[in-house]
Amino acid sequence: MSLVGKNIDAFCLRCQLTLAHIVLYEVGGLVRGVKCKTCGTEHRYHGPAPEKRLSIPAVRQSGMAPTARPRTVRPADARQWEAQNAAITPDVVVWDYKLTECYEKGDVLTHPSFGRGFVESITADGMEVLFGKGRKRMAMNRPETGS
Ligand SMILES: [Zn+2]
Repeated sequence: MSLVGKNIDAFCLRCQLTLAHIVLYEVGGLVRGVKCKTCGTEHRYHGPAPEKRLSIPAVRQSGMAPTARPRTVRPADARQWEAQNAAITPDVVVWDYKLTECYEKGDVLTHPSFGRGFVESITADGMEVLFGKGRKRMAMNRPETGS
């Protein structure tokens, strides 16, 4: 059953409204060409409303491999960091992170790139620190190199 010549509701790009159109032609049984009865524009049939576009991230770097995306912080870790950060009082010593220093569980430190961190545990080769950007294994107590 052909709809050619029949009325159909279609979105008119010129009128920016869903309006009555006349079907001009069909392809494979599907309405493809329509004419707006309001403005007379002949155009492709887009359906009664424009297709919903998939939301595109505001910032998208081209050529970036999916694996190169920054790791997201687990919400529980972020909450824990927020809570610990809020609990810091002025008398708490915040150490600068240095590879050669030795830290203990419960120490608070500041890393040049990761920011404030809380030493959660000491491991055989370093420590595990909770930063605002997530938990990281950090080296410590390393001998001075170079000079
Ligand atoms: Zn129109």
